[in-house]
Formats: sequence, C-alpha cells, structure tokens
Amino acid sequence: MPPLLELRNVKMYYGTSRGTVKAVDGISFRLNKGEAMALVGESGSGKSSLAFTIIRLLPRNVAEAGGEILFYDEELGVVDLAKMNEDEIRRKIRWKKISMVFQASMNALNPILRVQDQMIEPLVLHLGLSREEAVKIAEEALRSVGLAKDVLMRYPFELSGGMKQRVVIAMAIMMRPRLVILDEPTSALDVITQANIMNLLKELKAKFDLSYILITHDIALASEIADKIGVMYAGRLVEVAPADVFFRKPKHPYSQKLLAAMPTLREEKSIEYIPGDVPSLITPPPGCRFHPRCPYAIKGKCEKEEPQTKQIDGSEVACWLY
Ligand code: ATP
Ligand code: SF4
Ligand code: MG
Repeated sequence: MPPLLELRNVKMYYGTSRGTVKAVDGISFRLNKGEAMALVGESGSGKSSLAFTIIRLLPRNVAEAGGEILFYDEELGVVDLAKMNEDEIRRKIRWKKISMVFQASMNALNPILRVQDQMIEPLVLHLGLSREEAVKIAEEALRSVGLAKDVLMRYPFELSGGMKQRVVIAMAIMMRPRLVILDEPTSALDVITQANIMNLLKELKAKFDLSYILITHDIALASEIADKIGVMYAGRLVEVAPADVFFRKPKHPYSQKLLAAMPTLREEKSIEYIPGDVPSLITPPPGCRFHPRCPYAIKGKCEKEEPQTKQIDGSEVACWLY
C-alpha cells in the first residue's frame, strides 16, 4: 500500500546575516495512513522548520529548499508538495488535506476577536465558503473537541488554556484533513489538561481516521500516541523506529541519551544529561553531526565521514556503529 506522505531528501535552509542556517538538511521518511509519528529532539534541531516545510509555510528568508514531498491522496493522486505553487497549496492542500496546530498557537489567538471570527475567517477568505456554511462547520468542529457551540461567541481571554487548545485543534480538524501536524500541542498546559488533550487527540484520530506528526520535547508524551518515533538532531533524522522497538532498544547513541534524560515516576533511576549543546546549524560539525557529544565516536571515522541511513531490524539508523 502506498504511504500517505513520503519525504525524499528534503532540505530547507534559512538565509541570515550570519550565514545559511541548515535547519532541515536531507530528511527522508514515510508516514502511512492512520499512523502517528512523533518527532523528537532538542530545541533547535529543526522540528518546527520541518513542519513548515511540509505544510509549505516557508518564511521569507528561505535561502534554499529542495527534495520531494510526496502526498498520496485518493482524490488528487500522488502530488509533490514541493513542486506545487502557493495558489495550488492553498486551494487543494493546506487545511483541507494537511493542517497544523502551531507551536504556542493557543496563545496566538487574537485577543480582540471572538472565537467564531477566528475560526471562520480561513473558511470564508481562503476557501470561499459562505458565512453560514462556515459557522456550521465551526460549530461541528467545536463539538468534536468537546466544546459547546456558545464558545464561538466568546473571546480567547474568557477561555482556559485547555479550552483554547481545544479551539486550535478544532480549527485544525474542521476541514477533515488526512494529516495533522501538531507542534508541541500540550507544552503550555498542566499535566491533567495535557492528559485530557492527549486523550482527545487519540479519539479524533480514530474518529476521523487521521494521521499525525506530533512534534514534542516530551518523549513520555510521544510514547502515549506514537506508532513510530523520528529523532531529529541538527537538521537530520538520525533514527526512525517503531515505537515499541524504540522504547525497548533505541539504537542511535543520541536516541539512547534522549531516553536516559527522560524522568520516570515508576522506577528509581538517575537522570542523565546530554553534555554539550546542539551544534550551530550554520557550520554543523563535519562527519556525524553528533560526534562532538557522542561517547562512542570512532576516531578517524565519525568526525570525517557522514553515516548513511541503514535498515536494522525495522529501524532506520544513521550511525557508524551499525
Ligand atoms: P524548538 O524545540 O525549540 O521548538 P525546533 O526543533 O522546532 O526547536 P526550529 O524552530 O525548527 O527548531 O529551528 C531550527 C533552527 O533554525 C534553529 O537554529 C533556529 O534558530 C533556526 N531558525 C528558525 N526559524 C528561523 C528563521 N525564520 N530564520 C533563521 N533561522 C531560523
Ligand atoms: Fe556516535 Fe559515530 Fe554513531 Fe555519530 S556515527 S552517533 S559519532 S558512533
Ligand atoms: Mg519548534
């Protein structure tokens, strides 16, 4: 069966006065229909940049963008999003087929506009629906996320954090997309509300047969919903593995470090820290980008030659140890 989404060597560099930032640097992966992939990695590893690249919301200072972003759809057939122009993306793809809950978006709701106006604006403006049709869709979407329709008449400051997050999720699913990209959807919420939102995401996924790319720092959260885990480091995917395999036996040294740095309530364990910082994406380290921080780095090899991705027991790993 064809996947839903397939990235082949996708790149997106930003131009800055300090140099070219290689935020997304040769990413390839496949996401199947109905699958949830968690994308994890430290701050600055390029997770949000990758999300913007997929949904084609590229900032003005893009220096270079390349690769193929194949989307397989019953209605459209196979399309390469990287080759579509903005008009086509807006008419056929964004919100209708692929939507996104932006990082910190619940706090980006416009404080002086009622929820209704914010929800229906893209429907009326970009999709040409009538006001009445748009309000109906917004009401239905609110119901799906467990909110009453009178929320439409409220202003964002009248809603709790959890309710605001439900509103932005409603906005993401209201056009019945196939894929939803969720960028840190629970990071500003308390743990109980986080758990409620995660349950909601699971319900919506089953009800509307959605696929997810869930971006998070929180590996424990990822473990709740993800079928597979993608680990990003310095603009690259260093491991993609089925979730159960990943949590039992992460293969890439960076994945191992990330898991060791994860606190757990259930067992006594000392939390490890990953020494050093995420490298500069303007001048990333040569060879394996993780080599300056890797305890297993092979002298004479890792700092010189870039490891290619290999298939090992169902996982894809880019590391010279394999
Ligand atoms: P976080 O977990 O903190 O959200 P992230 O993994 O989402 O981090 P990105 O926001 O994608 O990381 O950033 C990747 C790199 O690109 C960083 O070095 C960041 O400073 C840089 N960057 C992001 N947006 C821009 C931009 N518009 N112009 C230039 N550089 C940018
Ligand atoms: Fe460590 Fe070398 Fe593997 Fe990179 S390629 S993670 S430096 S062992
Ligand atoms: Mg981000």
